[in-house]
Amino acid sequence: RIVTGDKQDDAETSIEQSLRPSSLSTYIGQTALKRELSVYIRAAKKREEALDHVLLYGPPGLGKTTLAMIIAKEMQVGIKTTSGPAIEKTGDLVALLNELQPGDVLFIDEIHRLPKVVEEMLYSAMEDFFIDIVVGQGPTAHPIHFPLPPFTLIGATTRAGLLSAPLRDRFGIVGHMAYYSSAELEQIVKRSAKILNSPIQEEGAHEIARRSRGTPRIANRLLKRIRDFAEVSTHHDSIDRTIVQQALEMLQVDNEGLDQTDIKLLKTMIRFYNGGPVGLNTLAANIGEETDTVAEMYEPFLLQKGFIKRTARGRMVTPLAYKHLGITPDKK
Ligand code: ADP
Repeated sequence: RIVTGDKQDDAETSIEQSLRPSSLSTYIGQTALKRELSVYIRAAKKREEALDHVLLYGPPGLGKTTLAMIIAKEMQVGIKTTSGPAIEKTGDLVALLNELQPGDVLFIDEIHRLPKVVEEMLYSAMEDFFIDIVVGQGPTAHPIHFPLPPFTLIGATTRAGLLSAPLRDRFGIVGHMAYYSSAELEQIVKRSAKILNSPIQEEGAHEIARRSRGTPRIANRLLKRIRDFAEVSTHHDSIDRTIVQQALEMLQVDNEGLDQTDIKLLKTMIRFYNGGPVGLNTLAANIGEETDTVAEMYEPFLLQKGFIKRTARGRMVTPLAYKHLGITPDKK
């Protein structure tokens, strides 16, 4: 699946790695955030201090991991990467923190999914660079004060709202990742095509960009699939608009970048709930998706497109969506 595509194979992961920009200057878009970060990075380097902790939030595939790697590179420090669900016990966190060199970056993806006890241990680690570990059991149990080198925690989350206030407040720098414009995605597609050695025409790149849901990961995925179509086609020696259109039709990505799940979601709201309002959990159950997937990947895009809106009583389909689907709304 193009949108979620969580079950990537190794080949896909290694291509994704090769397409990752490795400096702020080759990282396209997110201009305001990049400008801000570049100031903080230069200031921290000048003072020879670790960069303040950074929280990056926004939908999946917008470049949070990539940006964390770039920050470490620009700071000229090492980086350890992990994710919230991978740190099951406080011992796992202690092991990670123990390996950090002064100034290093610890990147925790999906930080909203950290177990509570681990999160609580992070508070003192982030604020004062120490942790208290309890050794022994029962009456012999006693805490050991364990100092840490100054480090930068970079947390990434798709759902800033799920982060507890004490954790959120410990990040000095908070960066909101916005969907990319078509023009920015076009640059990303062209850059990726060059790396993949795939000739692409201006109009082909434009068409992919337009249908990539504002998301670089999706733009790159579409490009890779379309490249396959172009390679087996006898009529195309480069990726042009026609091959993009043909390929996307087969991949069932529509003219606005909506996939089958988006369409199913909108049609379910229309057919079974007369356009809404309907709650997120009910909707997810109806279309056979996890609530998280709908909340992180589908809803934000459809909201941004103006195809659904949020109300106090639930989600509603907008007239724009009816028009896009060619359905006449029933009178309520
Ligand atoms: P996230 O961590 O937000 O899910 P990633 O950092 O893994 O997203 O980015 C997904 C892919 O999109 C990366 O492999 C990278 O190639 C591409 N990408 C992301 N942001 C950019 C960008 N600003 N410029 C160019 N490519 C990008």
